Amino acid sequence: QLSKRLETAASYIEKGARIADIGSDHAYLPCNLAQKGMIEFAIAGEVVVGPFASAKKQIEASQVEHIVQARLGDGVSVIEAADKIDTVTICGMGGDLIARILDSGNEENRLLNVKRLILQPNNAEKKLRMWLIENQYNIIAEQIISENNKIYEIIVAEPADELPNYAEEDFVFGRFLRKEKSKVFVEKWQNEYEKYEYILNSLDHSQRDVSDKKIEVKKIMKKIKEEIS
Ligand code: SAM
Repeated sequence: QLSKRLETAASYIEKGARIADIGSDHAYLPCNLAQKGMIEFAIAGEVVVGPFASAKKQIEASQVEHIVQARLGDGVSVIEAADKIDTVTICGMGGDLIARILDSGNEENRLLNVKRLILQPNNAEKKLRMWLIENQYNIIAEQIISENNKIYEIIVAEPADELPNYAEEDFVFGRFLRKEKSKVFVEKWQNEYEKYEYILNSLDHSQRDVSDKKIEVKKIMKKIKEEIS
């Protein structure tokens, strides 16, 4: 049984896909999909030896060695052209790190045949969305979910010749998420608002000149208010 977070990411994988799950840790995602007969082939990529060993163990225990291969290596460098990977999943890492992994993948031409990226950043969603758009990936779907008192965003992107216009707010809040304005979305941004309120309060008590910083924080708070009201 996958967590709700990984289940949501998995729901964007098309039947018969050939996936690379980067930073796979226990390889739960590819093993689960292989057991359900959902995928043709998967790489469980890991850069750290401990999680790589866990991935190998899980693949054996799930009896999916004919479908899932654990590979030790940095980011998408574990993908070879012969693997014909069409879907890359990167879940449970910072948005910054995900963007860096994709960036080096682009440089090494490892993503040329990839038709879909399924990403679940733990933070820095804005930075990741900006990377995607700057690199000609269109965001085709987004989800926001809550599990064990944590809120997660899932971002699905595909290479595109033409991109729609993105507003600053689309990068920050998510084009689809801000349209949908789900309960979880409102909860996330209410929490963020409160964090900025706290920052503003501490700035009010600062001895230094923080007027610029205060203007900046107030601007962000106004944007959040507009988005969730
Ligand atoms: N993807 C799983 C999930 O979402 O449940 C595991 C997430 S775990 C928190 C992050 C994993 O990414 C760790 O096992 C870590 O070793 C791996 N990782 C971090 N940087 C990486 C990189 N550059 N290449 C491959 N794996 C990486």
